[in-house]
Amino acid sequence: MGIVTVQDLLNFFPRALESTESASSAMQLVLGEKNTLEGTLQSFTKERTRAGKYIGKGVMVLDDGTTVEVVWFQIPYSLKKVVLPKRLFLIGKVERNYGKLKIINPEVHLDSNVHVGGLRPVYPESAPINSKWLREKISGMLTLTQEFKDPLPPEILKAENLMDLPSAIKKIHFPKSTEEWFEAKRRLGFQEIFEIQVRVLQAKFYREKVHQNPYQVGFDPAIIKQDLAKLPFTLTNHQKKALLDVLEDFKKDRPMHRLLQGDVGSGKTIVAFLAALHMVRAGFQTAILAPTEILAQQHYAGLLEFVKRVMPEQIESESTLIATEATEQCALLTGSVTAKNKKIIKDKLRQGQLPFLVGTHAILTEDTVFKNLALAVVDEQHRFGVRQRALLAENNAHVLAMTATPIPRSLALTIYGDQDLSIIGEKPAGRKEIITRIVADSKTETMCYRFIEDQIEKGRQIFWVCPLVDESDSIEAKNVLAEFVRINEQLFPQRRVEYLHGKMKPKEKDAIMQRFKAHEFDILVSTSVIEVGVDIPNSTVMVIENSERFGLAQLHQFRGRIGRNDYQSYCFLMVGDKKDKSKARLQAMERSNDGFYLSEIDLKLRGSGEVYGLKQSGLPDLKCADFTNVEAMQSAREWATKILEKDLTLESYPRLKRRIESETVYF
Ligand code: ADP
Ligand code: MG
Repeated sequence: MGIVTVQDLLNFFPRALESTESASSAMQLVLGEKNTLEGTLQSFTKERTRAGKYIGKGVMVLDDGTTVEVVWFQIPYSLKKVVLPKRLFLIGKVERNYGKLKIINPEVHLDSNVHVGGLRPVYPESAPINSKWLREKISGMLTLTQEFKDPLPPEILKAENLMDLPSAIKKIHFPKSTEEWFEAKRRLGFQEIFEIQVRVLQAKFYREKVHQNPYQVGFDPAIIKQDLAKLPFTLTNHQKKALLDVLEDFKKDRPMHRLLQGDVGSGKTIVAFLAALHMVRAGFQTAILAPTEILAQQHYAGLLEFVKRVMPEQIESESTLIATEATEQCALLTGSVTAKNKKIIKDKLRQGQLPFLVGTHAILTEDTVFKNLALAVVDEQHRFGVRQRALLAENNAHVLAMTATPIPRSLALTIYGDQDLSIIGEKPAGRKEIITRIVADSKTETMCYRFIEDQIEKGRQIFWVCPLVDESDSIEAKNVLAEFVRINEQLFPQRRVEYLHGKMKPKEKDAIMQRFKAHEFDILVSTSVIEVGVDIPNSTVMVIENSERFGLAQLHQFRGRIGRNDYQSYCFLMVGDKKDKSKARLQAMERSNDGFYLSEIDLKLRGSGEVYGLKQSGLPDLKCADFTNVEAMQSAREWATKILEKDLTLESYPRLKRRIESETVYF
């Protein structure tokens, strides 16, 4: 269970509290629920069942004379030597059966102890370690918490009205009241967030101290206006604001580290292109990185079109340098570029002749050297490793990261705490909402298939997503294949169906996507590999199998693959497990097309552990932090800023310093 030291044990927190306030009269009983009975065990007998097992039967009498029948299918050890009649406690579900009160398989406690009489902690269990065992061990060691040195400075405790560390640990295990328990959690949760904030902000402040901005560039609003006028659409206000944030950052004397967060289809790419254009005009190089080949190609195609529009003079001749992979201005560098072409591109980069580079992380190798890389745009940043981002930072380049994961702001501040945040919270005008329907019975299913047939007849295309039952690749492939056979042979035998899964080679995946884009087939069955960014404007239907298995944010991302055109688009949420209780979540999908709203719901219904993107974010396990408490999140960040501004190396906060450097040590 990851518990090695005594300290680990004391930091293993309960997942819930249970009341064991004892009842000694019928009036106090809650029938059908777990009760703690205090009374006298009058009789106890062992009986042999027909199956040859021993069961125990007894009668307990409460103080008001009420009798309760007791049955044990496994006779508790503590009853073996008990002398009757004996006053004791029983904990178990009490039911009325043919007019008699009955308690089955209750826990037995001969005296009051840590398990009875008040609130008791319930821990995450892992056989044979159970809550009873943990309660006994932890209660015996609680006094050791006095040794714990509180990393939170006293001024914070006072101002935020938080209890000290030893009290918090004691009370999270054995509180006197639920209020006390919540107060202990609030304190420990504050600490978790505060420590993360100190870590990320310290890194940020160090970086800002060390790194100069060699690419300090101002801007002329008139020129920006001219560029904007050349676009085929008007930017939304949020896009304009995001672009302005970036341009302002370019003027500062520190390299930019900005995260552009915006729902799928909110138009992040154009903001990145405009920022890149600005740097190129100033005479510097830019790179746009995508997590997959398909996305890199899409960005490259988009960039070419963009450059043609805004700098036609530069690209007029369109002297294609290396087949389709580069022009004089722009190059595409991915794993599948031939070695010869890679070399040509890299030579040009080194000499500073290529202002725009688009590529996958494959380009982030040591021999990719830029003459003057001023801006790196990182699309879907969570798909990149820390090492790759570090490589970019070495260049002192401005970094503009983009993510379509619309996590709640309180979480964003924590996960992406070392970056500044720009949010595109609105979509370009005129977009149609995607109509979403839950398909949970066979009648609706039939209608849904007929509807899809109709859409294909109209010339539209269909995405069909199957979940990963298991993380392992072979099973992933098998699911998709099975679904493919079902769809191709049973459901739509007249239609052209293809499939895609993560086990396929990048080249194969690309080929399929390209053919789908060219409308060479009608239905694409795939796993979540199509999750990110791929643009197939002609597709209007998204079918998601076993949709109950996905979080809302992820469903929303799938849905974002469609609705990128003027046609009305539709999303069908197939429910595999009909008993599943995720209906409320799926209904939120029917109701809303707003990713931020949906991620808030996910946070409320499933907790932060399930919020999409959090697991990949590399955050430590947060046990007490409550991300729905935005104020606490914010004030933890403010305190961290305040303390670091005063004392960046934390010399005057030795306890906090140790904690930040060694993570788990409290003394
Ligand atoms: P995402 O934020 O998901 O990366 P994209 O940048 O791919 O979204 O933009 C989605 C589509 O919207 C693209 O086809 C883009 O050209 C278009 N687009 C972007 N901004 C606007 C706008 N202001 N008005 C109309 N269409 C826009
Ligand atoms: Mg995108």
